[in-house]
Amino acid sequence: MLYTTTRRGQEHIEGSQAILNGLGADGGLYLPEAIPHFTEEELKTLMKMDYNGKAKVILGEFLTDFTQEEIQHCVDAAYNQKSFSDPAVTPLRSLNDRCAVLELYHGPTSAFKDVALQILPHLLTTSARKNGDKRTFIILVATSGDTGKAALEGFKDVPGIKIMVFYPNDGVSLVQKLQMSTQEGSNLQVLSVEGNFDDTQNGVKALFSDVALNQLLEKNGMTFSSANSINWGRLVPQIVYYFEAYAQKIEEGSIAFGDEINFTVPTGNFGNILAGYYAKEMGLPIRRLICAANQNDVLKDFIRSGIYDRNRPFHKTHSPSMDILISSNLERLLYLISDQDKSFVSQLMDELKDHGVYTIHTDLLKKIQKTFWSDSCGDPETTDTIRQVYDEYGYLLDTHTAVAYGVYEKYVMQTEDKTPNVIVSTASPYKFNLAVGEAILQTGASDDELKLLEEIRAKSGMPIPLGLTGLDQKTIRFREVIPKDQMKGSLMDYLGLK
Ligand SMILES: *Cc1c(COP(=O)(O)O)cnc(C)c1O
Repeated sequence: MLYTTTRRGQEHIEGSQAILNGLGADGGLYLPEAIPHFTEEELKTLMKMDYNGKAKVILGEFLTDFTQEEIQHCVDAAYNQKSFSDPAVTPLRSLNDRCAVLELYHGPTSAFKDVALQILPHLLTTSARKNGDKRTFIILVATSGDTGKAALEGFKDVPGIKIMVFYPNDGVSLVQKLQMSTQEGSNLQVLSVEGNFDDTQNGVKALFSDVALNQLLEKNGMTFSSANSINWGRLVPQIVYYFEAYAQKIEEGSIAFGDEINFTVPTGNFGNILAGYYAKEMGLPIRRLICAANQNDVLKDFIRSGIYDRNRPFHKTHSPSMDILISSNLERLLYLISDQDKSFVSQLMDELKDHGVYTIHTDLLKKIQKTFWSDSCGDPETTDTIRQVYDEYGYLLDTHTAVAYGVYEKYVMQTEDKTPNVIVSTASPYKFNLAVGEAILQTGASDDELKLLEEIRAKSGMPIPLGLTGLDQKTIRFREVIPKDQMKGSLMDYLGLK
């Protein structure tokens, strides 16, 4: 199985090379030239396997240049009782006959990014070894919170890798800040940058494309690499839990093999929901993928009208990991849905870059709408949903998952579709204590995020994840706050390049 990009370039490379490169030379995203498809018998066999078994089969289908032993090593090193606190890795909790929640947040940093970032370092180092690439990989991350911590945990103390994370000084929650500033490990650096997330992200992009800097790295046996969700190595592990959810539905007896189900996915960069689309194309009986957006509802408008328009105000919401106006992975869907029309996708991406807007044809929109449906939820609806689900089921949602739940309710109202639904849950409620506390605690509750951890626990009885306990007692290793024009200097210092 070879990989190509979504744009005009004519690269045809192996999976391991796509993972090492991250982004195509033409600026496009890598994807496999064909999508593997399971027969009914194969699907039945897959359903009987545990999480790691499913992951080995699915990754093996896509990463055909990896040996079986290599795949096995990567999967077992990522998904085990040391990293994931639940033996099912991604357990499914049913709220009622029709609606269940797939909990993707039992990894070390309590967000769904762990599912991909626990395995990506192993895929990357294995890819480097297979290709005889002996350079040190420098992972640069700009984060609005969840990705930074998940990448640090995944890459810490991995030989051959150094990681540097930049976060906006006034853009992350206290819990997220403490998670990163107390990070352990000997191959990493965390810096707080004055300004907002855009400043940080632009700074990192400038480092990636700095020609002189890249040459200096090469001369010193190093190279940049990226851990963000445009890397195919982050997307492919996410396909697995859609199959796992289906298997758990069968096991609990709420569906029979072959029945269709829907998934509702809280969406930002479109990576998670795109993995669901791949699962459907591989033969998993998915009827609808419901794309849930917050007030930054650019995807809702696109899926409803065929017009993608990022020219709109940016809102800071209670679900910060979905505060995104350019959903990078949508590019892959456009490629798949247009029957791999490279010049069409290149043209749309040029229009997006130059004017911030593009429109697709009605025929193509209808194809997207056959599978995708979308709506949005604002902040007040989000906290109302957390309270309502807590009162009704005693089940506590985080803000992102609550957006999904709210959108799922709108879907049922508007379509009357009674297909069993799985809400994809992307974070522990304890990562977003201010909004969750506002939803379920009486007025007069603390406004200190760390005190709120305990107040929410006392009220809900839900255990606080290990990684979030005792955060205030851990040693702070990274205190430095730098102006944004000092990111390059700090990087050179850290790598000893001066
Ligand atoms: C990253 C993230 C999302 C968005 O996922 P995408 O793959 O970017 O669509 C949603 N919720 C949480 C908690 C996240 O960390």
